[in-house]
Amino acid sequence: MEDSTIVKLRDVSFKYDKEWVVKDVDLNIKAGQFLGLVGPNGSGKSTLIKLMLGLVKPGHGSIHLFNKPLRQYQDWQEIGFVSQKANSFNSGFPATVIEVVKTGLVSRIGAFKFFTKKHKEKAMDALRTVEMDEYAYSNIGELSGGQQQRVFIARALVSDPSLLILDEPTVGVDAKHVTDFYDLLGRLNKEQGITLLMVTHDIGTITDHATHVVCMNKTVHFHGASEEYKEFSEEDLNHLYGHAVQQLTHNHDHHEVNYSD
Ligand code: ADP
Repeated sequence: MEDSTIVKLRDVSFKYDKEWVVKDVDLNIKAGQFLGLVGPNGSGKSTLIKLMLGLVKPGHGSIHLFNKPLRQYQDWQEIGFVSQKANSFNSGFPATVIEVVKTGLVSRIGAFKFFTKKHKEKAMDALRTVEMDEYAYSNIGELSGGQQQRVFIARALVSDPSLLILDEPTVGVDAKHVTDFYDLLGRLNKEQGITLLMVTHDIGTITDHATHVVCMNKTVHFHGASEEYKEFSEEDLNHLYGHAVQQLTHNHDHHEVNYSD
Protein backbone atom coordinates (compact mmCIF):
# COMPACT_ATOMS: atom_id res chain seq x y z
CA MET A 1 0.00 0.00 0.00
CA GLU A 2 1.28 3.46 -0.91
CA ASP A 3 2.37 5.50 2.09
CA SER A 4 0.16 8.60 2.40
CA THR A 5 2.99 10.51 4.11
CA ILE A 6 4.00 13.14 1.56
CA VAL A 7 6.54 15.03 3.68
CA LYS A 8 8.77 13.12 6.06
CA LEU A 9 11.48 14.73 8.17
CA ARG A 10 13.68 12.60 10.38
CA ASP A 11 16.04 14.04 12.96
CA VAL A 12 16.51 17.20 10.89
CA SER A 13 18.80 19.92 12.28
CA PHE A 14 20.06 23.10 10.69
CA LYS A 15 22.22 26.08 11.63
CA TYR A 16 23.05 29.25 9.66
CA ASP A 17 25.99 30.06 11.92
CA LYS A 18 27.01 28.49 15.20
CA GLU A 19 23.60 27.93 16.77
CA TRP A 20 21.04 25.34 15.76
CA VAL A 21 17.88 27.10 14.61
CA VAL A 22 16.14 23.80 13.78
CA LYS A 23 17.01 20.88 16.03
CA ASP A 24 16.12 17.17 15.81
CA VAL A 25 12.84 17.68 13.98
CA ASP A 26 10.73 14.63 13.19
CA LEU A 27 7.62 15.44 11.21
CA ASN A 28 5.18 13.58 8.98
CA ILE A 29 2.63 15.36 6.84
CA LYS A 30 -0.02 13.09 5.38
CA ALA A 31 -2.01 13.63 2.20
CA GLY A 32 -5.24 15.51 2.88
CA GLN A 33 -4.17 17.25 6.07
CA PHE A 34 -4.43 20.99 6.68
CA LEU A 35 -1.57 21.59 9.02
CA GLY A 36 -0.93 24.83 10.91
CA LEU A 37 2.71 25.41 11.88
CA VAL A 38 2.95 27.73 14.87
CA GLY A 39 5.70 28.99 17.17
CA PRO A 40 7.22 32.22 18.47
CA ASN A 41 9.17 34.60 16.22
CA GLY A 42 12.54 33.19 15.33
CA SER A 43 11.52 29.64 16.28
CA GLY A 44 12.65 28.22 12.93
CA LYS A 45 9.32 27.94 11.09
CA SER A 46 10.46 29.63 7.86
CA THR A 47 13.75 27.75 8.01
CA LEU A 48 11.83 24.48 8.28
CA ILE A 49 9.91 25.42 5.12
CA LYS A 50 13.19 26.30 3.37
CA LEU A 51 14.55 22.88 4.36
CA MET A 52 11.48 21.15 2.90
CA LEU A 53 11.81 23.10 -0.33
CA GLY A 54 15.49 22.23 -0.63
CA LEU A 55 16.53 25.88 -0.36
CA VAL A 56 18.89 25.12 2.52
CA LYS A 57 20.56 21.83 3.32
CA PRO A 58 20.14 20.09 6.68
CA GLY A 59 23.23 19.82 8.91
CA HIS A 60 21.99 16.33 9.64
CA GLY A 61 18.87 14.26 9.22
CA SER A 62 16.81 13.23 6.22
CA ILE A 63 13.94 14.74 4.25
CA HIS A 64 11.60 12.83 1.93
CA LEU A 65 9.03 14.41 -0.37
CA PHE A 66 6.35 12.18 -1.87
CA ASN A 67 8.35 9.12 -0.75
CA LYS A 68 11.54 10.26 -2.47
CA PRO A 69 14.72 11.52 -0.82
CA LEU A 70 14.82 15.30 -1.32
CA ARG A 71 17.94 15.19 -3.47
CA GLN A 72 16.20 12.87 -5.95
CA TYR A 73 12.95 14.78 -5.94
CA GLN A 74 12.16 16.65 -9.16
CA ASP A 75 8.40 17.05 -9.47
CA TRP A 76 8.42 20.55 -8.05
CA GLN A 77 5.17 21.51 -9.77
CA GLU A 78 3.51 19.16 -7.25
CA ILE A 79 4.37 21.66 -4.53
CA GLY A 80 2.96 25.19 -4.52
CA PHE A 81 4.56 27.84 -2.35
CA VAL A 82 3.17 31.21 -1.31
CA SER A 83 5.60 33.35 0.58
CA GLN A 84 4.97 35.94 3.23
CA LYS A 85 6.10 38.84 1.07
CA ALA A 86 4.13 37.86 -2.00
CA ASN A 87 1.40 40.44 -1.47
CA SER A 88 3.48 43.58 -1.40
CA PHE A 89 3.61 44.85 -4.97
CA ASN A 90 3.28 48.59 -5.20
CA SER A 91 0.83 50.24 -7.53
CA GLY A 92 3.43 50.91 -10.22
CA PHE A 93 4.40 47.28 -10.76
CA PRO A 94 3.89 46.64 -14.47
CA ALA A 95 2.14 43.26 -14.60
CA THR A 96 -1.48 42.21 -14.90
CA VAL A 97 -2.99 39.65 -12.57
CA ILE A 98 -3.20 36.98 -15.28
CA GLU A 99 0.45 37.52 -16.23
CA VAL A 100 1.47 36.94 -12.61
CA VAL A 101 -0.61 33.75 -12.46
CA LYS A 102 0.88 32.44 -15.71
CA THR A 103 4.40 32.72 -14.29
CA GLY A 104 3.35 29.81 -12.06
CA LEU A 105 3.48 27.63 -15.17
CA VAL A 106 7.13 28.34 -15.91
CA SER A 107 8.35 25.29 -13.96
CA ARG A 108 6.06 23.16 -16.12
CA ILE A 109 6.63 24.57 -19.60
CA GLY A 110 10.08 26.09 -19.14
CA ALA A 111 11.13 29.73 -19.25
CA PHE A 112 11.13 31.59 -22.60
CA LYS A 113 8.47 29.33 -24.11
CA PHE A 114 5.23 30.80 -25.36
CA PHE A 115 2.10 30.63 -23.31
CA THR A 116 -0.73 29.05 -25.30
CA LYS A 117 -4.48 29.55 -25.08
CA LYS A 118 -4.62 26.43 -22.91
CA HIS A 119 -2.23 28.02 -20.41
CA LYS A 120 -4.38 31.14 -20.32
CA GLU A 121 -7.44 29.00 -19.61
CA LYS A 122 -5.60 27.25 -16.78
CA ALA A 123 -4.67 30.62 -15.32
CA MET A 124 -8.31 31.78 -15.58
CA ASP A 125 -9.49 28.56 -13.88
CA ALA A 126 -7.07 29.18 -11.02
CA LEU A 127 -8.31 32.78 -10.74
CA ARG A 128 -11.90 31.54 -10.62
CA THR A 129 -10.97 29.15 -7.81
CA VAL A 130 -9.70 32.05 -5.71
CA GLU A 131 -12.61 34.26 -6.88
CA MET A 132 -10.35 36.80 -8.55
CA ASP A 133 -11.21 36.16 -12.23
CA GLU A 134 -12.89 39.55 -12.62
CA TYR A 135 -9.52 41.17 -11.87
CA ALA A 136 -7.59 39.17 -14.50
CA TYR A 137 -6.57 42.26 -16.46
CA SER A 138 -6.09 44.61 -13.51
CA ASN A 139 -2.62 45.70 -12.55
CA ILE A 140 -1.38 43.51 -9.67
CA GLY A 141 -0.14 46.54 -7.74
CA GLU A 142 -3.59 48.11 -7.64
CA LEU A 143 -5.06 45.27 -5.58
CA SER A 144 -5.27 45.12 -1.78
CA GLY A 145 -2.89 42.90 0.19
CA GLY A 146 -5.60 40.25 0.60
CA GLN A 147 -6.48 40.28 -3.10
CA GLN A 148 -2.80 40.01 -4.07
CA GLN A 149 -2.44 37.05 -1.72
CA ARG A 150 -5.34 35.30 -3.52
CA VAL A 151 -3.62 35.95 -6.84
CA PHE A 152 -0.44 34.35 -5.49
CA ILE A 153 -2.46 31.35 -4.38
CA ALA A 154 -3.82 31.14 -7.95
CA ARG A 155 -0.23 31.34 -9.21
CA ALA A 156 0.65 28.37 -6.99
CA LEU A 157 -2.50 26.44 -8.03
CA VAL A 158 -1.98 26.78 -11.75
CA SER A 159 0.46 23.86 -11.86
CA ASP A 160 -2.07 21.59 -10.03
CA PRO A 161 -0.03 21.05 -6.85
CA SER A 162 -1.04 18.39 -4.36
CA LEU A 163 0.76 20.21 -1.55
CA LEU A 164 0.49 23.94 -0.92
CA ILE A 165 2.89 25.59 1.52
CA LEU A 166 2.01 29.05 2.80
CA ASP A 167 4.33 31.17 4.95
CA GLU A 168 2.27 33.62 7.04
CA PRO A 169 -0.23 34.24 4.24
CA THR A 170 -2.56 36.35 6.39
CA VAL A 171 0.07 39.05 6.96
CA GLY A 172 -1.17 42.12 5.09
CA VAL A 173 -4.69 40.71 4.74
CA ASP A 174 -7.35 43.00 6.11
CA ALA A 175 -8.76 41.55 9.37
CA LYS A 176 -12.29 41.48 7.95
CA HIS A 177 -11.11 39.38 5.00
CA VAL A 178 -9.11 36.85 7.00
CA THR A 179 -12.17 34.62 7.52
CA ASP A 180 -12.86 34.58 3.75
CA PHE A 181 -9.23 33.72 3.24
CA TYR A 182 -9.48 30.74 5.60
CA ASP A 183 -12.70 29.67 3.86
CA LEU A 184 -10.78 29.62 0.58
CA LEU A 185 -8.02 27.47 2.12
CA GLY A 186 -10.67 25.17 3.63
CA ARG A 187 -12.24 24.70 0.18
CA LEU A 188 -8.87 23.92 -1.42
CA ASN A 189 -8.27 21.33 1.27
CA LYS A 190 -11.71 19.70 1.43
CA GLU A 191 -13.03 20.08 -2.11
CA GLN A 192 -9.82 19.84 -4.13
CA GLY A 193 -7.99 17.52 -1.73
CA ILE A 194 -4.90 19.75 -1.59
CA THR A 195 -2.70 19.16 1.44
CA LEU A 196 -1.93 22.46 3.16
CA LEU A 197 0.95 23.48 5.37
CA MET A 198 0.50 26.97 6.71
CA VAL A 199 2.92 28.90 8.90
CA THR A 200 1.03 31.33 11.10
CA HIS A 201 1.05 33.43 14.24
CA ASP A 202 -2.67 33.26 14.36
CA ILE A 203 -3.22 30.42 16.83
CA GLY A 204 -6.77 31.40 17.77
CA THR A 205 -8.01 31.19 14.20
CA ILE A 206 -5.84 28.44 12.79
CA THR A 207 -7.23 25.81 15.17
CA ASP A 208 -10.74 26.52 13.82
CA HIS A 209 -9.65 25.69 10.28
CA ALA A 210 -6.62 23.42 10.26
CA THR A 211 -7.03 19.70 10.88
CA HIS A 212 -3.68 19.49 12.67
CA VAL A 213 -1.30 21.78 14.51
CA VAL A 214 2.46 21.60 14.89
CA CYS A 215 4.07 23.80 17.55
CA MET A 216 7.76 24.30 17.25
CA ASN A 217 10.53 26.19 18.89
CA LYS A 218 13.64 24.81 17.20
CA THR A 219 12.21 21.37 17.75
CA VAL A 220 8.63 20.10 17.55
CA HIS A 221 6.90 20.39 20.92
CA PHE A 222 3.47 19.28 19.83
CA HIS A 223 1.98 17.67 16.75
CA GLY A 224 -1.62 16.58 16.88
CA ALA A 225 -5.22 17.26 15.95
CA SER A 226 -6.47 20.84 16.27
CA GLU A 227 -9.19 19.61 18.65
CA GLU A 228 -6.51 18.31 20.98
CA TYR A 229 -4.61 21.62 20.81
CA LYS A 230 -7.75 23.59 21.68
CA GLU A 231 -8.03 21.72 24.99
CA PHE A 232 -4.70 23.07 26.25
CA SER A 233 -4.73 25.39 29.26
CA GLU A 234 -2.41 28.39 29.46
CA GLU A 235 -0.15 26.32 31.69
CA ASP A 236 -0.03 23.51 29.14
CA LEU A 237 0.83 26.01 26.42
CA ASN A 238 3.63 27.54 28.46
CA HIS A 239 4.97 24.09 29.16
CA LEU A 240 4.73 23.25 25.47
CA TYR A 241 6.87 26.14 24.40
CA GLY A 242 9.55 25.47 26.97
CA HIS A 243 11.95 28.34 27.22
CA ALA A 244 9.83 30.52 24.95
CA VAL A 245 7.42 31.06 27.85
CA GLN A 246 8.66 34.60 28.39
CA GLN A 247 7.78 35.50 24.83
CA LEU A 248 4.20 34.41 25.17
CA THR A 249 1.19 36.24 26.49
CA HIS A 250 -2.05 34.40 26.46
CA ASN A 251 -5.25 36.26 25.85
CA HIS A 252 -8.17 34.13 27.04
CA ASP A 253 -10.88 36.52 25.84
CA HIS A 254 -9.83 36.25 22.25
CA HIS A 255 -8.41 32.76 22.50
CA GLU A 256 -5.25 34.01 20.91
CA VAL A 257 -1.62 33.66 21.77
CA ASN A 258 0.34 36.79 20.95
CA TYR A 259 4.05 36.74 20.47
CA SER A 260 6.19 39.71 21.24
CA ASP A 261 9.30 40.32 19.17
P1 ADP B 1 10.48 32.02 12.21
O1 ADP B 1 10.04 31.78 10.80
O2 ADP B 1 9.91 31.06 13.18
O3 ADP B 1 10.27 33.44 12.65
P2 ADP B 1 13.17 31.75 11.11
O4 ADP B 1 13.26 30.39 10.54
O5 ADP B 1 12.95 32.89 10.16
O6 ADP B 1 12.05 31.75 12.27
O7 ADP B 1 14.49 32.06 11.92
C1 ADP B 1 15.04 31.16 12.86
C2 ADP B 1 16.35 31.75 13.36
O8 ADP B 1 17.29 31.78 12.30
C3 ADP B 1 16.23 33.18 13.87
O9 ADP B 1 17.08 33.30 14.98
C4 ADP B 1 16.73 34.01 12.72
O10 ADP B 1 17.30 35.21 13.17
C5 ADP B 1 17.78 33.11 12.10
N1 ADP B 1 17.90 33.31 10.63
C6 ADP B 1 16.88 33.27 9.74
N2 ADP B 1 17.35 33.45 8.49
C7 ADP B 1 18.70 33.61 8.59
C8 ADP B 1 19.73 33.82 7.64
N3 ADP B 1 19.49 33.90 6.32
N4 ADP B 1 21.01 33.94 8.13
C9 ADP B 1 21.26 33.83 9.44
N5 ADP B 1 20.33 33.63 10.39
C10 ADP B 1 19.04 33.51 9.98
